[in-house]
Amino acid sequence: MEVVRAGVLGFCGGVRRAVAMIEDAADRFETIYTLHEIVHNQHVMEQLKDKGVILVDSLSEIPEDAAVALTAHGAPLPMIAAIRARKLNLVDATCPIVRDAQRVVAENSKSQRFTFIFGDRYHLEVRSLLSHAVVNAVATESIDGLEFPSEGRLALVSQTTKSLEALQAFAEKLIARLGTKTDLIVQDTTCPEPVARYRAARELAAGVDAIVVVGSPNSANTRNLHQVCQESGKPTFFLESAADIDGSTFVGYRRIGLTAGASTPDWVIDSVEQGFQQL
Ligand code: SF4
Repeated sequence: MEVVRAGVLGFCGGVRRAVAMIEDAADRFETIYTLHEIVHNQHVMEQLKDKGVILVDSLSEIPEDAAVALTAHGAPLPMIAAIRARKLNLVDATCPIVRDAQRVVAENSKSQRFTFIFGDRYHLEVRSLLSHAVVNAVATESIDGLEFPSEGRLALVSQTTKSLEALQAFAEKLIARLGTKTDLIVQDTTCPEPVARYRAARELAAGVDAIVVVGSPNSANTRNLHQVCQESGKPTFFLESAADIDGSTFVGYRRIGLTAGASTPDWVIDSVEQGFQQL
């Protein structure tokens, strides 16, 4: 069986940087606490656990003088303030692209511009963006039933993992509701990394019999990637690791396309590729 890799797959720059920062900090601190998964991937979290990274539910579980890590998604400002108030050692692995988006929201807030954040309001990154706006912002993925000021200075930004097309579609709906005379600016805070993986997966689909997406089901960008592959019309399979390969499922496919979400480490991708080559 031939395995063809997507041109872009696996860890994005922000996740690679966050893991490297936390591994580096693990050499300096015996234990590093985190309130959220550093990466939505069970294999990476197990490796980090072996290096002393412990996932906890609340700051109160973290002992005095310990180190606490923020993920690439960033963290809401009150949480960072609470970490500083306790004088814990902060390992801030917030992705620079998320930090840029936070800055845009903060500047809008400072200039009294109400900000719409197109994104999942329960997602950690979006909660961190909202915290930079103090009160004059709202986060949503749907315009239906949304309450907001219909006049004044307005801005629209996006959760970084949304596609530019999705942001534009949301902007069109918003403008249709507000009217074109409204002072609305659309600020592109999307990240090119997930989009590059979706584009590469579409290109891959054209030349293979089936596609395998590698990653964890709790990773939003991997689920999006799986959906993009399904939309290509090619049979699409979701695997967490090489242990999930069932040879009987892939009988009859000569060329398998391989892609992986931005939270899937290289060694898991490599082991899945080797698993298919041995069928
Ligand atoms: S997807 Fe983009 S914004 Fe998110 S962590 Fe990766 S590089 Fe940063």
